Amino acid sequence: IETGQIKMHFESIDLYKLTEEIFEQFEEKAERKDIKLRIDGAVRKVLVYADWQRINQVMTNLVSNAIKHSFDAGEVVVSFDSSKKNVVTNVTDTGEGIPPEHQTRIFERFYRVDKSRSREKGGTGLGLAIVKHILDGHNSKPEVESTPGKGSTFSFKLPRVKPEGETDATKN
Ligand code: ATP
Ligand code: MG
Repeated sequence: IETGQIKMHFESIDLYKLTEEIFEQFEEKAERKDIKLRIDGAVRKVLVYADWQRINQVMTNLVSNAIKHSFDAGEVVVSFDSSKKNVVTNVTDTGEGIPPEHQTRIFERFYRVDKSRSREKGGTGLGLAIVKHILDGHNSKPEVESTPGKGSTFSFKLPRVKPEGETDATKN
C-alpha cells in the first residue's frame, strides 16, 4: 500500500471534532442497525499532533469496522485517554469480537477472520492494513483487545498537544 507518495502534513488536530464529523457520516449506517454512536468523556477538545486526513482515514476505517461487526441495537464508543505526553484513542464496539488466534493477523492485507461472514458483509480486507500503515507513518501502531461474543476495542496513541494556558503542573 503506497500512501507515502503524498506528503504528510502534521499539525495540531482535534480528535473530538474529527470523531464528530465521522459519526455524522456514519449516522445512517448506524441507524439501520439501531447502533448508538457515542463519544465518552467530558472533555470536548482533544488535541494531538498528526496528519488530519490520514487520521481521518484511520478513524473512518475503525468506526466502519465497529459498526459492521456490532450486533443490532449495540453501541460504538470512542474514548480518549490523555496523559502528559500522549493521547490514546479507543474505538469500542459491542459485537462478535475477534478470536485470540486471529488478533495478530487482522492487520495483514486481505486478512479476514471468517471468509463466509466477510463475503456477506463485504469489504476487501484492506482497512486495518491501511490503519497500520498510516499509524506507522506517525511512529505509532494499532492495538486490539477483544472478547469473542462481547466486542472489541481498537486503540492507538498519538502525541498530545497542550491546550493554550496549560502549565506543566496542570496535567500528569
Ligand atoms: P475493508 O475494510 O477493506 O472494507 P474488512 O473490513 O473486511 O474490509 P479490515 O478492516 O482490514 O477488512 O478488517 C479485517 C478483518 O478483521 C475483518 O474482515 C474482520 O474479520 C475483522 N475485524 C475488523 N474489525 C473488527 C471488529 N470491530 N469486530 C470484529 N471483527 C473485526
Ligand atoms: Mg474494514
